[in-house]
Formats: sequence, structure tokens, C-alpha cells
Amino acid sequence: MSRDPHYLLSAEAGFSAAHTLPGIDMCQRLHGHNWRVRLTVRVPESRLDGLGMGVDFREIERVARDVVADFEHRYLNDLPEFSDRPPTAERVAKVVCSRATERLANLAPAAEVADVEVWETPEYRVVYRPV
Ligand SMILES: [Zn+2]
Repeated sequence: MSRDPHYLLSAEAGFSAAHTLPGIDMCQRLHGHNWRVRLTVRVPESRLDGLGMGVDFREIERVARDVVADFEHRYLNDLPEFSDRPPTAERVAKVVCSRATERLANLAPAAEVADVEVWETPEYRVVYRPV
């Protein structure tokens, strides 16, 4: 499906949160990041609406913000999603992807998550692609 003509639309959200990554050098110390998340959705060209839009950017932004809302000013290791596996940027991206996929199914059925990018710092980024 991704080979068919399609559009990729993105919106970003940010949050500030702490984590520890046991056994990983400096990361096992408690520290925080100003995390950045970019949610990119794919909309087939054939699914554009009557106005020629795939999904309203505001919808994507709302989804991006909603799915990280409970991360804000938290110690991520305390969240249920990370109770048995430390919150690496990879796992944060996967959780964001799962949550966004659920929400998009209701809000924008023409759209599916193409990828989720997570920045721990301006220099360090992970990209998760569900397919
Ligand atoms: Zn870190």
C-alpha cells in the first residue's frame, strides 16, 4: 500500500520528562529531556477529501499532543507501559505509535501511522515504522 501514491503529513508535540535506563552508562542516572515527537501519517492519494486534504493538520497535532499528555513532567519509568521495560526512546516511539494508531482509527480512518520520530535531544532521534 505504501507504494501507491500517497501523502505524508506530520505534526509535532513535545513534553518534558525524566527517565533512567539501568545498565546504560550515564543513562542509569536519573535525568530528564525535553522530548520531541513527530507523528507522520500516510494518506493514499485516492483518499483525499473533497477539499483536497488528507487529514487536517490540527487533527494530527491533537493526536500527537494527546498521546504524550500523560508523559508531561513524569518519571517515565513509573508509567504502566514501562513498568517492566525501561523507557528508551525506541519504546517511547512504539507507545506513541500504538496510541496514535488507536486514535486515528476513529478520527481519520483514511490515515495510518507511517512513522513516529522521537528526539531525546536535538541531536538524538529514533524513528519507529510500524510496517
Ligand atoms: Zn535519557
